[in-house]
Parts: sequence; structure tokens; C-alpha cells
Amino acid sequence: MERKEASEEKWRETLSPLEYHVLREKGTERAFSGKLYTEKRRGRYYCRACGQELFSSEAKYESGSGWPSYFQPVSTDAVDEHRDTSHGMLRTEVICSNCKSHLGHVFSDGPEPTGLRYCINSVSLRFNPEEAG
Ligand SMILES: [Zn+2]
Repeated sequence: MERKEASEEKWRETLSPLEYHVLREKGTERAFSGKLYTEKRRGRYYCRACGQELFSSEAKYESGSGWPSYFQPVSTDAVDEHRDTSHGMLRTEVICSNCKSHLGHVFSDGPEPTGLRYCINSVSLRFNPEEAG
């Protein structure tokens, strides 16, 4: 118990107020406000809180939703998914499998080959572009 409180304290120190709100309090950034929504470079996306690799640019696509969208995570082990009935909606929440931070939601209106749309907050991610050339 003490251990968990200590780590929440650490999150508050290392994350910005918006990052803390989204990652640790399951908040949502405003649509079209995140800087990774329009990111088109090749590279990898990591958990903002713990650094675990979560998504690749190869699975990123333009969904028109206002949030970075991917049709799959880098592996099924990278994220955990569970039912979220908050706000009067039935959704599937996506969290980092390592640190359990909130990332976003997954919907079943995505493109081939998975038909899934991982709708992820920019502030939950850290992007590492590949070296050019
Ligand atoms: Zn994490």
C-alpha cells in the first residue's frame, strides 16, 4: 500500500499535470490537440510513463478522430484491455501492460487487417523517429 502511494507521488513529480491526468486519472486530451495526431514519420511510440514500447508507425493511420490511431499494438503483450463503463458508454480501455497507465480506448471500426482502432492520447506516448536515411 505504501509502495503504491509512493509511486503515485513519483508520477506527479515526473509527469506534467496533463500527462498525470490522462495516464493516472484516465483523462482524455482534447481532440486534435495532441501533437502526435499529425505525426507521419517512421518510428516507434513508447509509454510516456514507463518507456515500454507500445506502437509502431507501421500500424498508425489517419482515422479522422482527432487522436493518434493504430490498428494494432507492437505485440499483444504491450497493452492490456478491459471493459470501461464510465460516462454511460461501454468501451474497451487500453492500458500499458507494464505500468498500468491509461492510454486510450480500442474500437472495432478500424481498417484491415485487424478491423480495430486503438485511439490513443498523444500525451500518453513518447515518439522516437527513425534516423533518416
Ligand atoms: Zn507504461
